[in-house]
Amino acid sequence: MDTMNFKIIGGGIAGLASALAVDNAGGHATVFEKSAKFEQLGAGLQLGPNAARALQKLGAWDAVLPFTYAPPEIHMRDGRSGKILKRLPLGKTFEHRYGMPYLTARRADLHKALHVVANTQPGIEILTNSEIDDLSLGNFSGIIAADGVWSKTREKLFPGSSAITTVDTYYRSLLPIPSNIANVNFECVNLWLYPGGHVVHYPVGNPVQLNLIAITSGDEPKVFFKNASENLQSVLDLKSQFSKWQSAYVPTLKQWHQGKITLIGDAAHATLPYLAQGAAMALEDAAFLQAELQSNAKMALENLSAKRILRTTKLHHSSMRAGQVYHCSGVAALSRNVAFTLAPSLIIQNQLNWIYDYKI
Ligand SMILES: Cc1cc2nc3c(=O)[nH]c(=O)nc-3n(C[C@H](O)[C@H](O)[C@H](O)COP(=O)(O)OP(=O)(O)OC[C@H]3O[C@@H](n4cnc5c(N)ncnc54)[C@H](O)[C@@H]3O)c2cc1C
Repeated sequence: MDTMNFKIIGGGIAGLASALAVDNAGGHATVFEKSAKFEQLGAGLQLGPNAARALQKLGAWDAVLPFTYAPPEIHMRDGRSGKILKRLPLGKTFEHRYGMPYLTARRADLHKALHVVANTQPGIEILTNSEIDDLSLGNFSGIIAADGVWSKTREKLFPGSSAITTVDTYYRSLLPIPSNIANVNFECVNLWLYPGGHVVHYPVGNPVQLNLIAITSGDEPKVFFKNASENLQSVLDLKSQFSKWQSAYVPTLKQWHQGKITLIGDAAHATLPYLAQGAAMALEDAAFLQAELQSNAKMALENLSAKRILRTTKLHHSSMRAGQVYHCSGVAALSRNVAFTLAPSLIIQNQLNWIYDYKI
């Protein structure tokens, strides 16, 4: 590519991060976002060290950091008995191991921070109220489609690649940090495993709130988790209304690009959120694209999918497997509980090294 002048479809996390990548590589990016304004959408996100590293590479880390929260531990729990099966240390232990911290944030704050940084770059223009369905290049040298899991661009480039819905339903909400529920430490990430579903909650942001997600096979949380331990039921009683999301993922594609158009973020590889890595993968994609544009701009779009697809596919399969482990019942759940209780936390953490150690 002689001049780098990209049309970016979608102004979510992947779209804004891609605009930063193009700008950092010396090009121009115009972001077209269909919404009339950047709404404060979504609840909370966990940002592992790999997401933090990607944000640093994109030059957005300093803007995001003030809005983050650093939980000290993950508590993996059995949702029926309420017992803690394993405490996984985060905090300094984690930061020392991976070189970057494990943080949480409101999605809206992460998005806003990316927006603020992008707005200060002369090479980036952001247009709202601008839905794009035309994939012609016009004056642009390439198109980056960051139009999310329901991407129309993907369906045009790769017919038959519609997102696949699953039985799972996500109930998400943000609420004030509760004062006391027996044996629940609200400073930590709490992951409650239950037959057919699970609940995750953790503090987010500054000022701090509790991000609560309940995943069921359809029923409202209080109905679905009716046989849960008393403390998990008390957690769910904290909220009467949730926003409801349908679970969906993108079938694995062989490539994300066609000619001078590429997919990125959820549009390319949306997965299930059980390893809390969707936004992290979008940030990694953008940081990777930046490195490719800097080193070999002509091949950047081809190399993005050629070199990233193995990782996002592995992440997808691992997220699916994590869901099966979280949601199993009967003897399988008993074996899982024994395994988590007996395994040293370092062994469990080491299984995730390939995710958190990733460097671009
Ligand atoms: C319950 C749940 C929990 C999660 N937890 C985590 C977590 O802990 N950690 C983590 O890393 N990830 C998490 N994720 C995943 C994460 O939210 C997504 O992977 C990430 O937000 C995807 O960003 P994106 O920019 O690719 O897509 P989106 O955020 O969907 O953005 C797409 C944008 O494109 C715009 N658009 C669409 N079509 C057009 C068009 N034709 N023209 C112009 N604009 C268009 C849309 O309006 C939107 O703004 C979670 C997801 C869920 C559902």
